[in-house]
Amino acid sequence: MKAFASPALQRVADGNLCSGCGLCAGISRGAVAMTMRDPGFARPVQSRPLSPTMETLVAEACPGLAVASWDTDVPGAARGPDPLWGPALSTSVGHATDPVLRFAGASGGALSGLLAHALASGLVEAVLHVEPDPDDPLGNRMRWSRTGAEVEAGSGSRYAPSSPLAAIDGALAAGRRFAFVGKPCDVSALRRLALHDPRVAARVPLILSFYCGGLPSRRGAVGVVAAMGVSLTEVTGFRYRGNGWPGLARAVTSRGEERTMTYAQSWGEHLSREVQFRCKICPDAVGASADIACADAWFGDADGYPTFDEQDGRSLIQARTERGQAFLEDALRAAAVVAEPIDVSAIEAMQPFQARRKRAIRYRVAACKVLGRPVPEMRGTRVAEAARQAPLGERLRAFFGTLRRLARKSARS
Ligand SMILES: Cc1cc2nc3c(=O)[nH]c(=O)nc-3n(C[C@H](O)[C@H](O)[C@H](O)COP(=O)(O)OP(=O)(O)OC[C@H]3O[C@@H](n4cnc5c(N)ncnc54)[C@H](O)[C@@H]3O)c2cc1C
Ligand code: SF4
Ligand code: SF4
Repeated sequence: MKAFASPALQRVADGNLCSGCGLCAGISRGAVAMTMRDPGFARPVQSRPLSPTMETLVAEACPGLAVASWDTDVPGAARGPDPLWGPALSTSVGHATDPVLRFAGASGGALSGLLAHALASGLVEAVLHVEPDPDDPLGNRMRWSRTGAEVEAGSGSRYAPSSPLAAIDGALAAGRRFAFVGKPCDVSALRRLALHDPRVAARVPLILSFYCGGLPSRRGAVGVVAAMGVSLTEVTGFRYRGNGWPGLARAVTSRGEERTMTYAQSWGEHLSREVQFRCKICPDAVGASADIACADAWFGDADGYPTFDEQDGRSLIQARTERGQAFLEDALRAAAVVAEPIDVSAIEAMQPFQARRKRAIRYRVAACKVLGRPVPEMRGTRVAEAARQAPLGERLRAFFGTLRRLARKSARS
């Protein structure tokens, strides 16, 4: 450990708890930078000491150390959150009304429809979100969108590292009001930062997120491209999905060729196998700290598993805060999105993986603790309540599976 190493960052590294959100870099005035580390995750590298204020911010807001409480850290959050699906003032299924956004979006383009409305209605001047990196088609970079067409350029899910908070200080200092879109862990970090930095509440009137099955390393995407039979150096454009629901992974080459792969294959056989450790113990992968969270409103088959059959996009939409609910109602009135209410109990059939994972967190965390590994503070995320819903088999698999995997890893290192 270098003399200037931040104790907070050291603890994150010791537990392999980094999610790659970029917050530590974003508040560090250049003392920390995000870099790509094997097997392809964005991770912080510290080059100078952090001031005591920065150290406190990292210790309090880094999602590897603490996750935003649904009870105390989210202004105007709905009371009585569901342990699996989080707080919600409304739960509905719908899509962007604009057919271009619906088609381009990952599921029904609801996030893009809402973002376009936030701009059109004057709620915000810009949107800070992720888009494909033109210099690295498998990778991501942040973009500012100021029109619906620009929002569309950032639509679709990118199953590769993103660090939406890596330049957050500059974004807040610029003085414009903006909407923020990030993974649930990014949103958690922003909510925790807001407890210390009043600029977040003043500048960011809309925070959106999505359900997150875990973030794969770049190696996942490299595997998809290899399985398509394309050389990485030939790839000039890459979409993970979208342009349909779920849409195909699509690589475009410098020779003008196009190769595709189904979502079931790209996620099931490549990307899901490369998910980072922090995701395995994620207590809030449903964007419960956001104002509004969207997800795939999958149709289940006879066994209750999503079919992934290609069809018109459908988004699950949960308004989680008073602000999110008021904005959603405004977007519905303006016909930017359409949505029909559903009962929260209907989500499990659409998202069986998320349900199982949330029920498993307490047992996976227990395995980490048995091995003396640090874990993030998870107060207020209903981990214990969710765990009580787990059948015995799930509990045992979660605990002993995690114990075995971690023990095997430490034996190797
Ligand atoms: C890593 C990952 C895992 C996911 N796992 C699940 C899951 O388990 N279940 C589920 O229902 N949905 C999951 N999603 C979300 C899902 O794919 C859709 O984003 C969601 O249904 C909303 O669709 P939409 O059409 O409304 O979004 P769109 O209108 O397509 O908008 C998507 C927005 O998300 C932003 N975005 C895309 N990729 C990233 C990224 N890597 N980091 C930060 N922001 C990003 C874009 O910039 C855009 O603003 C995941 C997404 C990602 C990126
Ligand atoms: S999770 Fe975010 S804040 Fe924490 S170490 Fe990783 S990049 Fe930094
Ligand atoms: S699963 Fe959780 S930790 Fe992993 S990327 Fe998604 S929100 Fe972040």
